[in-house]
Amino acid sequence: NINAAQTPNYIITTDATYPPFDFQDKNNQYTGIDQEILKTIAKRQGFTYTLKPMSFNAATQSVSSGQADGVIAGMSITDERKAVFDFGTPYYRSGIGWAVKKESNIKSLSDLKGQTVALKTGTSGADYALSVQKKYGFKVTYFNDSDTLYNDVINGNAQATFGDLPVIQYAVKNGTQLKVMNSKSPIQAGWYGFGVQKGKNTQLLADFNRGFAEIKKDGTYDKIVAKYLGASA
Ligand code: GLN
Repeated sequence: NINAAQTPNYIITTDATYPPFDFQDKNNQYTGIDQEILKTIAKRQGFTYTLKPMSFNAATQSVSSGQADGVIAGMSITDERKAVFDFGTPYYRSGIGWAVKKESNIKSLSDLKGQTVALKTGTSGADYALSVQKKYGFKVTYFNDSDTLYNDVINGNAQATFGDLPVIQYAVKNGTQLKVMNSKSPIQAGWYGFGVQKGKNTQLLADFNRGFAEIKKDGTYDKIVAKYLGASA
């Protein structure tokens, strides 16, 4: 089979815990919006891959250092990253939100003075928080995964966090004891993209984009998103 010889089995990294985009179902199988998009595109475009779940920071670095071929992890397309990655067609519009624990008295960013803010290493939410850290006078602490980070805020070790608005909202909807402070107004809008190392894996990127255009057009993409976030998302 000529195709089998020509098409490599790609190594794709993802964030081990990033519902509703990437997470394990009851049978420990990876699922979520990202994973269903990737799986559907791979099947239709005829490529195979091995999924490597890890921390978000490791997932992106594995690709930028050439140890893996692609990353899909609710990864925001940013100008900084465009220097290192080539991104596929933007596939989901997100934005940055901030949250405190449910019973918190914190009402505005100014209330964060002297408090500790929990950030996820290597994320755009962390970058944003650092950009306003001086202005609001908070301290920061870092985590590699979202669940441990949320728990730190719920336990009161940290008083707030910054991260992707739809992801924090999904966690809250599913029982995480946090309160989103800017539900209606994302701090910074931005798109998620599938990433490869800049200048590398052009075939994979082209296949992803061709497959993505197809699932957008035939309604499969909308069905996937609606399955996790409801039809209005
Ligand atoms: N969207 C954010 C970023 O790209 C966070 C991604 C994540 O934590 N998986 O930095």
